[in-house]
Amino acid sequence: MKVFGLMGESLSHSLSPIIHKYVYEMLHIEASYSLYQVQPAMLEAAVQGVRALNLRGVNVTIPYKIKVMEFLDDISIEAKKIGAVNTILNDGNTLTGYNTDYFGFGRMLDRYNINPTGKTAVILGSGGAAKSVTAYLLDNGVSELYIVSREPKKVAASSKYKVITYEHLAFINQGALLVNCTPIGMFPCLDAAPISKHDTAKFEAVIDLIYNPLNTLLMNQAIEMRIPAYNGLYMLVSQAIASIEIWYGIAIDEGIVDEVYNKLILYLDN
Ligand code: NAP
Repeated sequence: MKVFGLMGESLSHSLSPIIHKYVYEMLHIEASYSLYQVQPAMLEAAVQGVRALNLRGVNVTIPYKIKVMEFLDDISIEAKKIGAVNTILNDGNTLTGYNTDYFGFGRMLDRYNINPTGKTAVILGSGGAAKSVTAYLLDNGVSELYIVSREPKKVAASSKYKVITYEHLAFINQGALLVNCTPIGMFPCLDAAPISKHDTAKFEAVIDLIYNPLNTLLMNQAIEMRIPAYNGLYMLVSQAIASIEIWYGIAIDEGIVDEVYNKLILYLDN
């Protein structure tokens, strides 16, 4: 029996245990997944605990995705680009940090037949999720990338993307891909959207990383104009599955991701 879990500061609303439970059941894996609420001063001790107890791996979430990197032996290519880790693999006492939001986002794009190659993409927000989405889109051939921030001067400059304000959205050409990486529209603030319906109209497809609610106001603005819109639940399931792939060194096929996703929708409906 392997023991996995999630390290973070406040974890009471996490869907990770239920997602992992579904995957373990479907793959007949004997494993458990616990929530570890870690105080900031105990983070290093918690990571050393992974070694001491010889756990195969853990996930890491807010607010430790950056800080935890100091205590690891190695950082994967995608996690280095992003500057944050959400999955630790313990392989013979060597701890390596990965970022499975990157892989989860990619799997979601594939699932919805969205190919970013040669496209213009616009990311709302400049936090942790935005960094994973930025790295994935740049690695997968977007022709132009815009990061929209309330405070563009605070966002790291790069020749690979442009940082703009919400006012500058007016100058983006028709037909880009929009990815909302802000928390605007998340439960309980259901009647808020990060951009107006007028600004939403120019996008070819809208992805909202939010999954609670399953249909945000931003998505509804898009759907009313017949623009395809998708929430972040498939990404959430896929990033969890990517962690399991790393811990077990296996590839988990699309059918399992879909089955877990469908079970989770039923669970959230009840
Ligand atoms: P974060 O690190 O706090 O970043 C959020 C960013 O949104 C901030 O950096 C900020 O960018 C912008 N923002 C924050 N408050 C805002 C406001 N009141 N108005 C406008 N913009 C605001 O959070 P995160 O971890 O990136 O998560 C962002 C969202 O993605 C959350 O809803 C989270 O649940 C979701 N998410 C989903 C998945 C998934 O698997 N589906 C994975 C990760 C995150 P500026 O200061 O530059 O404007």
